[in-house]
Amino acid sequence: MSEIVDIELPDIGDFEDVEVIEILKSPGDRVAVEDSLITVESDKASVEIPSPRAGIVKAVLVKLGDKVSQGDAILTLESEAAVSEPLEPEAVAPIPATTTNAQPTTAPAIRISDDATQIKTDLVVLGSGPGGYTAAFRAADLGKSVTLIERYKSLGGVCLNVGCIPSKALLHVAQVINEAAHFTQYGVAFAEPKVNLAELTAWKTSVVERLTGGLAQLAKQRKVRVIQGSGRFISPHRILVETNDGEKTIEFEQAIVAAGSEPARLDLFPWDDARIMDSTQALTLPEIPDRLLVVGGGIIGLEMATVYHALGSRVTVVEITDGLIPGCDRDLIRPLVRIIKERYENIYLSTKVTHVEPQEEGLGVGFEGNDAPGADLFDRILVATGRVPNGATIGADNAGIHLSDAGFVPVDSQQRTNVPHIFAIGDIVGPPMLAHKATHEGKVAAEVCAGRKSHFDARAIPSVAYTDPEVAWMGISESEAKAQGIEYQKGVFPWAASGRSLCLGRDEGLTKLLFDQDKRLIGAGIVGPNAGELIAETMLAAEMGADPQDIGLSIHPHPTLSETINFAAEVVEGTITDLYISKKAVN
Ligand code: FAD
Repeated sequence: MSEIVDIELPDIGDFEDVEVIEILKSPGDRVAVEDSLITVESDKASVEIPSPRAGIVKAVLVKLGDKVSQGDAILTLESEAAVSEPLEPEAVAPIPATTTNAQPTTAPAIRISDDATQIKTDLVVLGSGPGGYTAAFRAADLGKSVTLIERYKSLGGVCLNVGCIPSKALLHVAQVINEAAHFTQYGVAFAEPKVNLAELTAWKTSVVERLTGGLAQLAKQRKVRVIQGSGRFISPHRILVETNDGEKTIEFEQAIVAAGSEPARLDLFPWDDARIMDSTQALTLPEIPDRLLVVGGGIIGLEMATVYHALGSRVTVVEITDGLIPGCDRDLIRPLVRIIKERYENIYLSTKVTHVEPQEEGLGVGFEGNDAPGADLFDRILVATGRVPNGATIGADNAGIHLSDAGFVPVDSQQRTNVPHIFAIGDIVGPPMLAHKATHEGKVAAEVCAGRKSHFDARAIPSVAYTDPEVAWMGISESEAKAQGIEYQKGVFPWAASGRSLCLGRDEGLTKLLFDQDKRLIGAGIVGPNAGELIAETMLAAEMGADPQDIGLSIHPHPTLSETINFAAEVVEGTITDLYISKKAVN
């Protein structure tokens, strides 16, 4: 039997005379229990009002802009007898919405208690970088009600806002400038580039905004609740978020910590002097200094050196270890070093900065090391000495989450912390601090939260330095293989024999593949233009357990740089014809 009932605005806490800002159902619509009917908005929050009954909408009794209070009839429903039992009061609590133009939804509800500042959610994700937003979206796609907390207005974390994306936009500009200059020797000369910093910065910002705006849209489409504010655990099931509108408490069943990392700020540097920059400040291009000192010869330092050199700075790099990009095989670094030695004023290895003295005419810097130079004066200093996890800032103790001494959150292969319902992903769980590692871990954590048996079991994680030339590697490096006593077979193809490389006016590159005793690909390294794109093929090969025959017999398009992977595999197979090999090696 059916009955006609009026659905009234329930008790939604502090809300009186709230405005109807969305009508989500029309006469004739079928609604299920908890389907959102209308959205109301107060000065504190937007709240979706769920239906306490299933049935068919006969009439909507409110219109946009109406003010409603508890007990006001909002809709008439022909209630279906079979499902018409009203729910318990707490089960029909309203659904808050952070956006005022959310689409009608049947997505899982985020429940709010009587106190509008208390939000209940299945899953809370702390931090919206590549790890956090991926985890939030994947979990929402798998049916979880998700709340994503981000302290900044813009989603996307370091990667989109002050990392991968802005740096790669500027590195593309560097590539254009370098290529144009390089071709002068081949008879094509361009005028000196005129760089308009304001326009260049505006373009870079527009790229970032396009992507971060896209994320906000994707969150909205998935009904992921985004709360802007700084969050910290106050208990194993609650996070307190400080927002511009005051404090909000999020009560959750599960949590994923994706709070990332920030630049390490050594005390040695007088950070209150604006001429000292970390990578975030350097990406804003405050000016192009005449003389720039880059402290740290890792990936970030060398990428920023590439940008500032191309834009006109005289660059000096100082690195405390005995080689640039520590951790990468030296044969892959050599072509890069050969090129940047020509371009940069100085590269000091095994050298450290001992002091920095701000002076009116520049920053006086002292060095120490075997080949350390005397004190020198620079217009700016970029400090790229690594990144530190944000573990110490999240109230980990209050939730019982263990941190390592360095502030990382240890996790198992399912991204689970020592607290079974709390997971962690991305930079905060440890190196390598890379966006693609964070996104992969984000998916694993979200899937485990949704009850799936996912694990992080990738065979390798690629690393790329987007320098000129690019350097990319994955899996076991040759030096690691040697140190660990792993037997391997190596195939190396020098790009001097690659037709495509010569067509680019470049011949310094190298492609190296390492296979284990069973002839499975276990490592690869590439240096040369586009190495970062090329390494992806070796990732697929490693994940598929490819042997040299698989790679060598896969027809690669000619003339491309990708052929160098094919050729390196043929070197191992003894079938290479693009290089001379001894009769003994022919297969
Ligand atoms: P993050 O991106 O650090 O995001 C964490 C988010 O959490 C941030 O938005 C932060 O505001 C938020 N947050 C932290 N604490 C709180 C809190 N208490 N409450 C609310 N919000 C909080 N990686 C690559 O793979 N490729 C590259 O080319 C590359 N280039 C880079 C270039 C530069 C200059 C830099 C600095 C980094 C680069 N990286 C690159 C590294 C990459 O950016 C990081 O590995 C990646 O962003 C880590 O993602 P994440 O999700 O772990 O954390």
